Amino acid sequence: MRPQKIIAKKRDGKVLSDGEISSFIDGVCDGAWADYQISALLMAMFINGVDQREQDTITRAMLESGTVMDFSDIDAPKADKHSTGGVGDKTSIIIAPIAAACGVAVPMVSGRGLGHTGGTLDKLESISGYDVNLSFSRLKKVIQTCGFGLIGQTKSIAPADKKIYALRDATATVPYIPLIVASIMSKKLAEGLDALVLDVKTGSGAFIKKYSETKRLAEALCATGRSFGVNTQALITDMSEPLGKFVGNSLEIFECVKILRNEGDDAMSPTLDLSIELTASMLIQTKTARTDPEAKSMIRKALDSGEALARFRQNIELQGGDPTICDKPDRMLTKGLYTHKILCETDGYVAEVDALAVGEAICAIGGGRIKAEDAVDHAVGFEAVAKFATEVRKGDVLGIAHCRTAADAKRVSEKLQGAYKISPEIPKVQKMIRARV
Ligand code: URA
Repeated sequence: MRPQKIIAKKRDGKVLSDGEISSFIDGVCDGAWADYQISALLMAMFINGVDQREQDTITRAMLESGTVMDFSDIDAPKADKHSTGGVGDKTSIIIAPIAAACGVAVPMVSGRGLGHTGGTLDKLESISGYDVNLSFSRLKKVIQTCGFGLIGQTKSIAPADKKIYALRDATATVPYIPLIVASIMSKKLAEGLDALVLDVKTGSGAFIKKYSETKRLAEALCATGRSFGVNTQALITDMSEPLGKFVGNSLEIFECVKILRNEGDDAMSPTLDLSIELTASMLIQTKTARTDPEAKSMIRKALDSGEALARFRQNIELQGGDPTICDKPDRMLTKGLYTHKILCETDGYVAEVDALAVGEAICAIGGGRIKAEDAVDHAVGFEAVAKFATEVRKGDVLGIAHCRTAADAKRVSEKLQGAYKISPEIPKVQKMIRARV
């Protein structure tokens, strides 16, 4: 089928047949479609729309452009958690060992940070030696041994998405729900899961900021997961404030280890609370637990007994990293950084800590990347001292930027200061979990 004919059909607002969509995805993979033709069709889809059947066909064709992992010889339910991305969002690193300790096998394929949002792979790579590029057979061995494995997207996982996502990024066609659903779900469905829990973020630091749009995305993701026979639940969660205490790769691993060691402080408790909610959903979706209280009691046991921490230590060892960070989390704190304190300018209550501003500031000092090929400085980041709704006085420390140089600190200090709004009244506290879909 000629690309021009398919592009013209969508340009004129018509619905594409399954054959035309397959021909498009085949052409993406074998190079028969030029980048400009792929981009033209994506823009036509963006403008004229894609219906439910077309969305399902695109998802299936992208999924089938690669292989579906087969973990059928692992005698445990398989589940994963996927987040649409945020600032300080480190829950994967806590959830995977807890779920594994509760008897769920977790084959987790994660992404890298882009723009203001962080990525699990970058965080893991801040652990000296940790290898996220495992072959399928090695990943399987790791999961068989410790219950979970954390890797990046391989060449055989939805290769059509890799190409299409790069072109969407370059042609302003990312923010369209059917294309987002096909992109996310083609990768997640390739993990051969029984259950999937989606953490769909809403608020300033989220990929989609408006609640109504986030809800539409969550519903569409769940409908697709369920139509492919995967028990899928989405939690819509707040991302208007950075999650927990730290933003920045090695600082976030420090926070995860502290939590797994049961040494988390108050600023880290939102990270723990959200991790518990998401893991509980995984346990229920896989029928490992029947009720929420039962799931939470299993999770508490995994943490209190040290089993979750032991699983994490074992995983780090198996993936080539330095497991001693589990005993000495301070090793994740880089020495010799320049720290810059953000001070409170008036008495009152913290009424906003803008996640987007914090994420952009950390990206600007090297903690994130603007382009996919940029390198990341694992050491730098931000420490949230005063969280949302904390009572503060003039001169109190609100947050601390951990930078390489004083010049870096100066460059972002205004942005970080601007991230904080102080109000004379106690602000209305927003629930972390806005809805379950
Ligand atoms: N993340 C993805 O993997 N794909 C999208 O389209 C958007 C976010």
